[in-house]
Amino acid sequence: MCEFCTQHGEGKKWYLNVKNYAAELLNDPKRRSMIKNFYKEVVDQGNNNITRLEKMFQRDPKLLERIREAYTQEMKSMHFGQILPLEEVAKVVSICNTAVRLPCGCRWAYNKQEARVCFGISFGMPDWFSELDMDFFGSPDVAQFDHLDREQVIAIIKELDKQGMVHSIWTFQTPFIGAICNCELKSCLAMRSTVGLQMPLMFKSEEIAKIDAEKCTGCQECLHTCQFNAIEYVEADNRSQINPKSCFGCGVCRESCPEEAIHLVERRTHPVASSIW
Ligand code: SF4
Ligand code: SF4
Ligand code: SF4
Repeated sequence: MCEFCTQHGEGKKWYLNVKNYAAELLNDPKRRSMIKNFYKEVVDQGNNNITRLEKMFQRDPKLLERIREAYTQEMKSMHFGQILPLEEVAKVVSICNTAVRLPCGCRWAYNKQEARVCFGISFGMPDWFSELDMDFFGSPDVAQFDHLDREQVIAIIKELDKQGMVHSIWTFQTPFIGAICNCELKSCLAMRSTVGLQMPLMFKSEEIAKIDAEKCTGCQECLHTCQFNAIEYVEADNRSQINPKSCFGCGVCRESCPEEAIHLVERRTHPVASSIW
C-alpha cells in the first residue's frame, strides 16, 4: 500500500477511510482558506510554475534534481493525488453522499477550455465545494453546477474512461479528500509534473496492468491509449507487454483491447512494481 494508506488509511486504502472526508477537517481555518483560493492560487500559479519548470528542465535537466524531492514533499502535505482505476472510483463514490461536477482548473489554465470533468465529493457534511471561489471562471455560482447522484457520477466517469481519461483522487491539505479528477497528460498540471518533470504530485494506483500473452494478438491498439507510455510492442513475439516501472495502474488501456487481454493485479503482489509509487 502507498505511503498515504500507511499514514491515513487505518488499515484500509486511505481514500476509503471515511475519516479523511470528515467535517472536523474542514473546520480547520487554514484548509478553508486554501479551498477558497484554490483555483486562483494553486491552479493559476501552478500553471506558471510548471511551465517555468518545464523550460528550466529543457535547458538543464540537472537543475531540477535539487528541488524535486522538496517539492514533492511539500505537495504531499498540501494537494496530492493518487491514480484510481474505475472500480476504485466506484468504491469512493459509494461512500460519498454528495457530488457536484466542477470545471477542471488545469484545462482552464491550459487553454481556457471549461471542461466539467472534476467531481467535488463529500461525506456526511455540507458541500465543502460551496466555499470555492469561482471568480477564476468568470464567477459562475457553484449552485449552477450539476449536483449528481452516485449512478450519474459513475456513468459519466465510465464514459470518460472510454475516452482514455485517467482518474485520480485529491487532497486539500492532506488528509482531507475533496475531489475525483479525470485528466489528460497535455493539460493536467499534476501529470505534467509527475510524468514530464519526474516530480510526482500523485501516487500510482494500488494496482498494475498485466497483459495475457495467450490472448494478445499484437494489434497495438492499447499503445495509443496509455498516457504513461507504459506499453511496449515486442516485434519478435508479435505481442505487447507492460513496463512495470512505468505503469500507473489507471486501467484505461483495458477498454481499448479487443481481446480483453489486459487486466489489473494488486501492485503489492507484483515482483517488480510492489515498491514503485
Ligand atoms: S487534476 Fe485533472 S481533472 Fe483535476 S483539475 Fe487537473 S486536469 Fe483537471
Ligand atoms: S499500461 Fe498501465 S498506465 Fe498505461 S493505460 Fe494501462 S494501466 Fe494505465
Ligand atoms: S490491444 Fe490487446 S490484443 Fe492488442 S496489443 Fe494490446 S493487449 Fe494485445
